[in-house]
Amino acid sequence: MDLINEQFGNLTVLEKAGKSSWLCKCKCGNTIVVTTSCLLLKHTRSCGCLYRKSYKQGQDKMREFYKNASPEEKKEYKDKDLISRYTKFSPNKDNKTSKRKGVCFSKSVKRYLAYINKDGKRVYLGTFIHEIDAIKAREKAEQEIIQDIKQEKLNK
Ligand SMILES: [Zn+2]
Repeated sequence: MDLINEQFGNLTVLEKAGKSSWLCKCKCGNTIVVTTSCLLLKHTRSCGCLYRKSYKQGQDKMREFYKNASPEEKKEYKDKDLISRYTKFSPNKDNKTSKRKGVCFSKSVKRYLAYINKDGKRVYLGTFIHEIDAIKAREKAEQEIIQDIKQEKLNK
């Protein structure tokens, strides 16, 4: 399959980056490697800047809320619950649909997505009808990363 020069949301495919992944250029100027399935299923429409933008809007809303809060409310916001309050304003609700780290339910495709952060990048592992399969994929990827790290240490 050749996706070069195809457009997916903010992304334009530049070149093949692996067996089933592509180097894409985002409208914002960043480049990102995306798997074929994520492009075709439209999970990934930007380098992450679309998500960051909506997250920032949530934070701005939170800040405004805080500015107008009473001293009691402010005290309450300062507790360790602060982070979860922040996420409450985040429009990306997909991340809250699974208790498992690295697994979320995408309402747009009605499937579970599994992903893992590798070398500071979010790598999508695929989409799954059942949450348990997404969890398995995530666990497998975790094991692979652990193996890679062990291997690297051995090679040193
Ligand atoms: Zn971008």
